[in-house]
Amino acid sequence: MSYAELSREELEALKAALEAEYAEHCAKGLALNMARGKPGADQLALSLPMLDCVNATTELFAEDGTDCRNYGVMDGIPEAKRLMASIMDHDAERVCVFGNSSLNIMYDLVSHGMLYGYLGAPAWKTLPEIAWICPSPGYDRHFAICEQLGIRMIPVRMTETGPDMDEVERIAASDASVKGIWCVPQYSNPTGAVYSDEVVRRLASMECAAEDFRIFWDNAYCVHHLYEGREAHVADIAAACEASGHPDRYFKFASTSKVTFPGAGIAAVAASAANIAEIKSRVGVQTVGYDKLNQLRHVKFLGDANGMAEHMKKHAAIIAPKFDMVLDMLEAGLEGVGATWSKPDGGYFISFEGLPGTAKRTVALAKEAGVTMTGAGATWPYKNDPRDTNIRIAPTLPPMNELEQAMEVFVCCVKLASVEALLA
Ligand code: PLP
Repeated sequence: MSYAELSREELEALKAALEAEYAEHCAKGLALNMARGKPGADQLALSLPMLDCVNATTELFAEDGTDCRNYGVMDGIPEAKRLMASIMDHDAERVCVFGNSSLNIMYDLVSHGMLYGYLGAPAWKTLPEIAWICPSPGYDRHFAICEQLGIRMIPVRMTETGPDMDEVERIAASDASVKGIWCVPQYSNPTGAVYSDEVVRRLASMECAAEDFRIFWDNAYCVHHLYEGREAHVADIAAACEASGHPDRYFKFASTSKVTFPGAGIAAVAASAANIAEIKSRVGVQTVGYDKLNQLRHVKFLGDANGMAEHMKKHAAIIAPKFDMVLDMLEAGLEGVGATWSKPDGGYFISFEGLPGTAKRTVALAKEAGVTMTGAGATWPYKNDPRDTNIRIAPTLPPMNELEQAMEVFVCCVKLASVEALLA
């Protein structure tokens, strides 16, 4: 049965039935939250032993003799650089390990562009306008950085293999005020898309009107695979940029926020030698150094890339069943509605596309029934989803039983909002 083929009378009858079901959900007095991509409590428990790796009885010196309790080594202890370099496909010499948040580093680097400019180019604050390419749906906090710094955002539609590159190339080549692009290349937030080799090559080699154009390569989910045997591995943007004669075009980012503890992980930036030298000179004014005890703790706990991969399998064992359940419930509950959704192999989200004009209504209905979803529109610049279709589903935080209840409500709300839209 396809909703689009139902007569008005059939739709009216369906609406009445769905309203009755919805009232039952509302009567349960639920208070469930699926708004953000946070690890669940059982995932956080996986990293508790890390807290014992560094204590009053353990060695507190880095391999180069640095006393991790003291000031200094602003760009990270060598063993932490090696650990982060191993998951970032980079040479450890050109990696800086900073504080707990990669988003914080991204914010600082965009700010540096604004205040000082990159590698001798003019500070953006001296230019009449700065613009940014924003593959959408995308990560709301990337968009918030642009919005706060007054950078005009240009949405470009995401495909299953990355942003629509014809559009990206056209915009980058034609407008010198366009200084950058947000990219979440592997298991993107929220669509789960994995950038193809072709997209990586085109980003690295495209003509840019702005000499100081930067690809913000936010590989937040580089080790966050859900299913063994289906692990993605995106081509290296650094190698691609070097091969096409643009060695300074990218900044790579990663963190252990969703490996160990969000808020108490370690975060890193990797870049060309020239960019790293400039970043160090600027960040060296911002801080004397970050938390080296936490860097040491991470190295002792995770070891190397293999240790990290083993640890990530434990996360996958907890969250893959949550993704599977959400996908099964969407499949079973929404037959014929005309909605679609992503089926990611990793990352933290499922991206839902409802009928045009239904996303806001669906999220509002769910909220009324006690289920908080990510705000509709949040995945687009200025919170403006032009077709009002996209909803980000974040399955990781609620325990399975709560997730199941939340998804029952969500499915009902999608159907009700869809029928309302078809009757309007
Ligand atoms: N980048 C993306 C794409 C994310 O989805 C998130 C968190 O949800 C972050 C960055 C935040 O990273 P961090 O905790 O390192 O600041």
